[in-house]
Amino acid sequence: MTDTTTSALDNLASEDRTFPPSPEFAAQANVDASIYAEADADRVAFWGERAKRLTWAEPFEQVLDWSDAPFAKWFVGGKLNVAVNCLDRHVEAGLGDRVAYHFEGEPDGDRSSVTYRELTERVCQAANVLEGLGVQAGDRVAIYMPMILETVVAMLACARIGAPHTVVFGGFSADALATRILDCDARVVLTADGGWRKGAEVPLKPVVDEALERCPDVRTTVVVKRTGSDVAMVDGRDLWWHDTVDVAERTHEAQAFDAEHPLYVMYTSGTTGKPKGILHTSAGYLLGTSWTQWEVFDLKPETDVYWTAADIGWVTGHSYVVYGPLANATTSVIYEGAPDAPHKGRWWEIVERYGVSILYCAPTAIRTFMKWGADIPAKYDLSSLRIIGSVGEPINPEAYVWYREHIGSGRTPVVDTWWQTETGSLMISPLPGVTAGKPGAAMKALPGIGADVVDDAGNSVPDGSGGYLVLTEPWPSMLRTIWGDPERYRETYWSRFPGKYFAGDGAKKDADGDLWLLGRVDDVMNVAGHRLSTTEIESALVANPKVAEAAVVGASDETTGQAVVAFVILRGEAGDGGPEVATELREWVAKQIGKIARPRQILVVAELPKTRSGKIMRRLLRDVAENRPVGDVTTLADTTVMDTIRGGMATAA
Ligand code: ATP
Ligand code: MG
Repeated sequence: MTDTTTSALDNLASEDRTFPPSPEFAAQANVDASIYAEADADRVAFWGERAKRLTWAEPFEQVLDWSDAPFAKWFVGGKLNVAVNCLDRHVEAGLGDRVAYHFEGEPDGDRSSVTYRELTERVCQAANVLEGLGVQAGDRVAIYMPMILETVVAMLACARIGAPHTVVFGGFSADALATRILDCDARVVLTADGGWRKGAEVPLKPVVDEALERCPDVRTTVVVKRTGSDVAMVDGRDLWWHDTVDVAERTHEAQAFDAEHPLYVMYTSGTTGKPKGILHTSAGYLLGTSWTQWEVFDLKPETDVYWTAADIGWVTGHSYVVYGPLANATTSVIYEGAPDAPHKGRWWEIVERYGVSILYCAPTAIRTFMKWGADIPAKYDLSSLRIIGSVGEPINPEAYVWYREHIGSGRTPVVDTWWQTETGSLMISPLPGVTAGKPGAAMKALPGIGADVVDDAGNSVPDGSGGYLVLTEPWPSMLRTIWGDPERYRETYWSRFPGKYFAGDGAKKDADGDLWLLGRVDDVMNVAGHRLSTTEIESALVANPKVAEAAVVGASDETTGQAVVAFVILRGEAGDGGPEVATELREWVAKQIGKIARPRQILVVAELPKTRSGKIMRRLLRDVAENRPVGDVTTLADTTVMDTIRGGMATAA
């Protein structure tokens, strides 16, 4: 970025609240500050040492082969089976009776708990069925299922036989599903009749049927009966799960695969454009997810109840609902449905019921809870919580403080974790027993991870300045390529700054050298020659007591080049905000940050366009602000939102 960036960033609001870990917490934490020194001394040896937490069928000969950069090979020569690492080895170690998941379905009272022994048996059954259907190691299998235990079973069965899965979020359209099936050429689809959300059925099998009209190579589907609604079963193609998996043999001999064997393809959220098929492989990914869950969440698998409240259909679900937690023999919670059905205290009821001790969720959820009011969580016993985490977007300082105060009882460390589908596991985060957390800052690269902020020319910026976030070293859980398109992989991530991974996010280093995420590079605004960060203006807006959520975009402007346009959702107690709310908020931003950041226009809206993973899609708002047709909306959670916002824009103009 230019010098003006630095000066503009210098003017932005500063945060001086910090939350150091209590001495009691620090004393019992899994890692202390010496872990950074160990990693810094020899990063490759550090990862080689960590890899001992996995159970290898054959040991590796080399930790990292980077000779064909940017195509990495980790743990060269090593062999293991991912499902055995997640299941069988725990049963063999005497943990068969430990609960792997407490499941909370949406229908009232629909609860069950599955132990490691039971889950292992169910995975063996599904693996036997897939093999019987002719699925071989390397074949891709698509999974389009609700948030139920069978989804985990399906994923691990694929992993067990070496068939990479591609999980497609259960809310996506037939079109989005077909595109992904075709892109990775899956021949088998695992699905369900439907799932439950807010008291209604979300049909899945009919969507599969529609998608498969475009996917002639899919020869089989296996369908879980979840809702019991009528579905059409195509003879010779569609099988019921209960007729096949539930009656299959409960043992299965697992084969060991190469450390670099493909584990899955996951499509990115599509926040910035068309989703990319990210390929993750076996050993490095499993190491990255299990190690970081243990390190960052201070996991005590014997006693903790861990809950990542994210859908399995996005990477947070893959890494921190399924692979990391299972590899660590964690007891986790999985829930189906929505936070406000049947009532707005649903999450807190779940925390209370199971004694959840670690909660991990997205800022969008936290801001929604803020909007609903602190009196709702206050009705429940949340005293079991000892760590709370955030992922997916920058967490605004006000949301962080609210989260810590009202969910974490003013006591729990908050871990703001930066990572991406591409990185596979957490990259930048505080360590809860070591770091004095700052609201809004993701703080530091984790041990063994190299992160930096660089300028346009790729030079590291000094403390106090902003620029582009890069990762400077390969890491075990890194993506290996974009499925079927190695050139796009090289081009997208490794060409902007040669030798460095370009994340696509803007960041700054504060005076202490701690890292703050500033939003997408694509979203950075240029107002009268000053580059402004969406995140900081949004955080300033959210700091106003009337505002629950804000999205800021730069719209072309005749005089200033670009002008700031803000879309805001008000907090419940703010009512309609009053007639002067737009003016009031414009002045608020000018006062908090500087006149340069004062929005040209503020629109009060009821909803913001979000991806299925809960991220604000600013590119669509920019389309509206600039009066263009909106771009690719296939990953949008609710497509009607854009029409409503466009209507509001027209009235305000
Ligand atoms: P696409 O790449 O298709 O546009 P996406 O980037 O939204 O989609 P994900 O991989 O799900 O897909 O999201 C990763 C992005 O989420 C990061 O690049 C970053 O912008 C944002 N993000 C995740 N965690 C954090 C965090 N703790 N703080 C700030 N931003 C975060
Ligand atoms: Mg991305």
